Amino acid sequence: MDHYLEQPIKFLPGVGPRRSEMLGKSLEIRSFRDLLFYFPYKYLDRTRFYQIRDIPTDAAYIQLRGKITRIEKIGTSSHERLVADFTDETGTVLLVFFKGIRYLQQTLHLQTEYILLGKPGIFNGKINFVHPELEEVSHAETSIASSLQAMYNTSEKMKEGFLNSKAILKLQTTLWRGMPGRIPETLSDSLVKRLRLMSLHDALFNIHFPQSIEYLHKAEYRIKLEELLFTQLDILHQKKNRETKTKGFLFKKVGNIFNTFYQNRLPFELTNAQKKVIREIRQDTGTGHQMNRLLQGDVGSGKTLVALMSMLIALDNGYQACLMCPTEILAQQHYQTLRNFLGDMDVQVELLTGNTPKSKRKTMMERLRNGSLQILTGTHALIEEPVQFANLGLAVIDEQHRFGVAQRAGLWNKNVTPPHVLVMTATPIPRTLAMTLYGDLDVSVIDELPAGRKAIQTVHYYDSQRLKMHGFVRRQIKEGRQVYMVFPLIDESDKVEYKDLTMGFNHVMDVFPPPEYSISVLHGQMKPEEKEREMKRFVQGQTQILLATTVIEVGVDVPNATVMVIENAERFGLSQLHQLRGRVGRGSDQSYCILMTPYKISEDGRKRIQALLATSDGFEISETDLKLRGPGELEGTRQSGQAFDLKLANLAKDGILLQYARNLAEEILSEDPELSSPENKPLRKELIRNHYTTEHWGMIS
Ligand code: ADP
Ligand code: MG
Repeated sequence: MDHYLEQPIKFLPGVGPRRSEMLGKSLEIRSFRDLLFYFPYKYLDRTRFYQIRDIPTDAAYIQLRGKITRIEKIGTSSHERLVADFTDETGTVLLVFFKGIRYLQQTLHLQTEYILLGKPGIFNGKINFVHPELEEVSHAETSIASSLQAMYNTSEKMKEGFLNSKAILKLQTTLWRGMPGRIPETLSDSLVKRLRLMSLHDALFNIHFPQSIEYLHKAEYRIKLEELLFTQLDILHQKKNRETKTKGFLFKKVGNIFNTFYQNRLPFELTNAQKKVIREIRQDTGTGHQMNRLLQGDVGSGKTLVALMSMLIALDNGYQACLMCPTEILAQQHYQTLRNFLGDMDVQVELLTGNTPKSKRKTMMERLRNGSLQILTGTHALIEEPVQFANLGLAVIDEQHRFGVAQRAGLWNKNVTPPHVLVMTATPIPRTLAMTLYGDLDVSVIDELPAGRKAIQTVHYYDSQRLKMHGFVRRQIKEGRQVYMVFPLIDESDKVEYKDLTMGFNHVMDVFPPPEYSISVLHGQMKPEEKEREMKRFVQGQTQILLATTVIEVGVDVPNATVMVIENAERFGLSQLHQLRGRVGRGSDQSYCILMTPYKISEDGRKRIQALLATSDGFEISETDLKLRGPGELEGTRQSGQAFDLKLANLAKDGILLQYARNLAEEILSEDPELSSPENKPLRKELIRNHYTTEHWGMIS
């Protein structure tokens, strides 16, 4: 059976070289198995026929039954098309074909009964069908009988080559007719029995040829569960591997440095959530295993302080620590923050970025190697080759979604024993997604903001209400507050960004003219020094308005800034909007977020704005984001490197099933950690064969 499924698709009768190339290029169907796993996007009820007089104007694909009463070739030779009248007892519609005219002329017959499948359109007040599928009623049983007909996505180009949905269905039919036996189970017998699952063979058959709605539902359930279960088995196995096999540094104690900071320097009471997370980190680092923890906390929840206090624990145990973040500006700010928090304490902290001068860099490297430099903060310059720590015990990565997995691994290789890793993110990832994406990490959550924060007031203005916005900004500035104005960044490299910003800048200059007002500008095409200078002017209160593209998105902290104006807010993603809003409301003053949009915006754009107006809870927002955009596009998931090979299961919708699969996977692995029992052989085989990360499964055995 495996042999049959692994055959190249060109060997399937009816495919041949031209079609096999098309299938490979457009749909990545290269083998029989690929075709088998190319699932329909929907089903058409073949028992339902419309009468021509009842055709709804907004219909999707429908079926008619009737005869062709006229066929005619019209137009000039370069623009020729074939038109035909299709008639049933209740009326006539027009059929139009632009391609394959000669072939159609030879094969379509007058006065023969056909089943027509197509999408109705209207032209000159008459209903027409462009390139409908036609099948003679007497031939209608050429595919495997099924009242629900599978519909497959194909590209425009494929359709022109007559490789349409129906053609794919025909290939599926050929594939199944040639099947030499039953498709072997991938789940253990006991699991199939206990969960009353449809067999894999029957499930796959019913996905392509549903024998009834009930069978189709059972088939979909089986496939979804299977997809989620294997992902979870894989992730949990990886996690267990790491926990039992990867030794980590033992942080035995909380010592002098931590305690001095806690007693003398801590400017405020920790929130309960901060305390809880520090406790979790203490526990992890005290076991002798390597910590790999994701810290999720909404913007402004105080993650930096948690990072600092964790690093102090590392120092207390004689280790070094580092704090890495994605941008220069953020790195500088972190450095300043750490310095301010530590004050006169004798802790050696330095900043390393791409702009650190050579001479300074050299002494820094020496002090890193001899261990006298204790905390290094900076950008990805931190993980570049010549950076050698004497004994890096803890690596904190802020705003992780900017870092790929490879970069995380880069940190690990600095020592023989990997440092503990704490990944911090303010882009909360919904539970369902965290489980698949970061299933091998432990997750901590700061679900509480420091006391005394006032909720940010968010409003939505149309561009026509701009004057109102200006007036509001003026009043806030008069009260001594500062204001962000953000313009959408279209593309880092795009000139348009610069143009938009310049135009926006000129406009803002007109409305807020010097010397009464002063403005900082920040965008992606500025040199780092310029950015730094502009940012500094704003941070130090010399400018009242910071005009920027989304380069300020991450981490920037100016407590006196109380207004965030977002221009063309409809062009931003939901998480991005939430991040931007989180730049204000960081001090004790009431803060505001003003979303500016044109009057006409897309349905999705409107939903995003509504979501932002409705809640300030980052988790709720990311759930909505997931539903609006789908998991593949969620920030932070694109470069994650995790297998996302879910064909039917949908992380946005199948949360409950995912949890179920997770529990199941846990149960299976707790009884048989390496899946080595004869019972679990199919599971193991599938994990090694399949599309999941095979490495760690391959290593054992
Ligand atoms: P984020 O989680 O977004 O990185 P920060 O670490 O930048 O948040 O913290 C936001 C602000 O809250 C900072 O000014 C920080 O000093 C302050 N802060 C942190 N923890 C507390 C606390 N327990 N009480 C009061 N303010 C705090
Ligand atoms: Mg932060």
